[in-house]
Amino acid sequence: MQRTPETSSTAAAAEVGRPGRRPPIGATVLGYPRIGPRRELKRALERHWRGRIDEAALGAVGSGLRRAAWSRLSPLGADAVPSNTFSYYDQMLDTAVMVGAVPDRFRGRRTPLATYFAMARGDDDAEPLEMTKWFDTNYHYLVPEISAGQEFSLDPAKALGEFTEALEQGVRTRPVIIGPATFLLLAKAAEGAACGFRPFDRLDDLLGLYEVLLTRLAAAGAQWVQFDEPAFAADRSDEEIAALGTAYTRLAAVHHRPAILVATYFGGIGPALPVLAGTPVEAIGVDCVAGSAAEVRAVPQLRDKTLVAGVVDGRNVWRTDLDAALATIESLRDVAAAVVPSTSCSLLHVPYDLDVEEALDPAVRRWLAFAEQKVEEVRLLGRAATDQLSASAESPVGARDAVAAGNDDGRAAMVAQLASARAALAERPAAPGVRVDAVRSRTAAAGQAEVTRTAYDVRAKAQADRLGLPTLPTTTIGSFPQTDALRVARAELRRGEIEEAQYDAAMRAEVERVVRMQEALGLDVLVHGEPERNDMVQYFAEDLAGFASTELGWVQSYGSRCVRPPILWGDVHRPAPMTVEWATYAASLTDRPMKGMLTGPVTIIAWSFVRDDLPLGEVAAQIGLAIRDEVRDLEAAGIPIVQVDEPALRELLPLRKADQAAYLDWSVRAFRLATAGAADATQIHTHLCYSEFGEVIDAIDGLDADVTSIEAARSRMEVLGDLHARGFERGIGPGVYDIHSPRVPPVQAIRSLLAAAVESVPADRLWVNPDCGLKTRGYAEVEAALANLVTAARETRAAL
Ligand code: GLN
Ligand code: ZN
Repeated sequence: MQRTPETSSTAAAAEVGRPGRRPPIGATVLGYPRIGPRRELKRALERHWRGRIDEAALGAVGSGLRRAAWSRLSPLGADAVPSNTFSYYDQMLDTAVMVGAVPDRFRGRRTPLATYFAMARGDDDAEPLEMTKWFDTNYHYLVPEISAGQEFSLDPAKALGEFTEALEQGVRTRPVIIGPATFLLLAKAAEGAACGFRPFDRLDDLLGLYEVLLTRLAAAGAQWVQFDEPAFAADRSDEEIAALGTAYTRLAAVHHRPAILVATYFGGIGPALPVLAGTPVEAIGVDCVAGSAAEVRAVPQLRDKTLVAGVVDGRNVWRTDLDAALATIESLRDVAAAVVPSTSCSLLHVPYDLDVEEALDPAVRRWLAFAEQKVEEVRLLGRAATDQLSASAESPVGARDAVAAGNDDGRAAMVAQLASARAALAERPAAPGVRVDAVRSRTAAAGQAEVTRTAYDVRAKAQADRLGLPTLPTTTIGSFPQTDALRVARAELRRGEIEEAQYDAAMRAEVERVVRMQEALGLDVLVHGEPERNDMVQYFAEDLAGFASTELGWVQSYGSRCVRPPILWGDVHRPAPMTVEWATYAASLTDRPMKGMLTGPVTIIAWSFVRDDLPLGEVAAQIGLAIRDEVRDLEAAGIPIVQVDEPALRELLPLRKADQAAYLDWSVRAFRLATAGAADATQIHTHLCYSEFGEVIDAIDGLDADVTSIEAARSRMEVLGDLHARGFERGIGPGVYDIHSPRVPPVQAIRSLLAAAVESVPADRLWVNPDCGLKTRGYAEVEAALANLVTAARETRAAL
């Protein structure tokens, strides 16, 4: 008979408390989505922020979502269901609040929740915490600010509250908390980096709080706790690794505490693994998808540990190769005292449920698994691993033997499930579209000639002759405000309430309006405004072969913001031109140069769920060549300037230095495949959304774009010095208008930024543009800001 969660937890309860005897943990997931299967939390948050619902009503939505998640996960059994993975905004922010790292500027708000949202979003009196990418994912966390004299104080209400809430529902969960080392490594010094103080220096003080937290969790009845330490998947100093060991030795020494699982993910933790395994914690979670099981096998210190093996990819949407996962688990059996299958990281990064995606191509659908399906996969793996059931014929206990040995229904069902997963995946390599020979031969044939343009000086001359632009030419990054009317039209088209032709007419009208406005403002290089694009990646994914879209495949990007990444499942090519009609229509409305607008291969990869059966470099090359076709067609249609946006170039940079060169190699090559087919007189622009170049500065040079626009207003043009120092010698457009703020920059402010810019870049290579696209802003401020931008450029020009 299968043990029910209740019986196993009663047995476990008897074992706990005896030193060295901890309740075993079953197959598990490291975390679960929280935004709601229909984005319920997003809607509730936004209504709350607009003052439409109060804290109690928001709380009810949160509680409903938590309960639903726990019932969904409860078949995993006691301690295997995570809690405290819910958040009203972000888990790092939750942890900051838990340890009392609330900067003074947020004190004195009406309620704790109001303080929390002020930290997340800012308010009239205080700038919010900085937000940045969570490792190499598209999730963003809030960066805690820790000062040298920080007074930590424990507020465990959230973790305890969720644990108790679930317990009342009959589910004994495993609270999940950001580990103290990762918390501090991701925090920033409140006084600024220059002050010499590092938040990590405060680890000892923070551990005091975590010790109390452990006691409190044990008192509440928690048998297991999970501390997340993903920071060790990136390069860490010996000192930091040693501190990790000391920290967990200290936490493990707490007398009355739950068993500790230290979860690591987003890659192997290398030299930190033996150190962590040398501490007395009960379990360690390792990422066997982004990291390697071989690395784990080489660590003898794991001998007495429970190894939580992340064999189900928590970050991507592919169905797990269960045979391979079982083989991995099998291969780890001798290394540790117990091996428990798990997801490679939290399921936060994948959508809820595949079953609701009725419009998905059924062939593709069979290869996919979203959060719900992945929970089933770990459960199945858990059962199969305990029964030593392997479905592969070569394995010691083959499927046939297993069925023969235990003629039990559960077992037969399991064998059937393994078989059906295997059959679905077996179809994949030969399914139409997965491999398109013409695409493969084209990428294979692309050589140095395909990525090399004429020398920059020669191109620059040809472009200058053709375009006849003034010095300090003005332009924008591409999008103009996405108005409610545009969004409504798109929704109506989707619901079939208006015809394609009506929709196109509405978009054309908007293009005309935007072109007229730019002419009136006096901008030099115009754009069509991108009204027809829902999203800069989704838009291209819909037109390229090899992609599928979901209806409800939302994942949280930050706070209430969700994205719906397309699924890249096959060889990518471009059946027909994608943007040429819009660009030529816009160009026909004006005598000024019109800039065509495309998204680059790296960004398309970064913001999609990408196939796992082909190296990323090959996928990028395929997309690069598809974009190349589009550049050629735009050029043939007379468009003189084409911008290929790569805002995600830095985001995809591997966490470890050792892997970065190879990445930069293929990513730069893909961009050049996209752009190097352009004639000398076609000007290629690129746009990068950020100003911290550090590791990618050489790659930016390697892109060989004629003009690169970057973010610079907030950092007051400081980045130009770095670029100059590296000998960057092509056109550069440092943003002079911070589009993240609703503030209209005065002419004088823009002039002073331009004055700073001409200090480090010769004026004949300088462009004048905003920091980023304008789609999130309103027309009133955009018109005023662009008018000031044009005036400032003219005045600076005249003064040169
Ligand atoms: N062309 C895009 C726009 O203006 C670029 C956006 C981006 O870089 N994120 O919206
Ligand atoms: Zn941008």
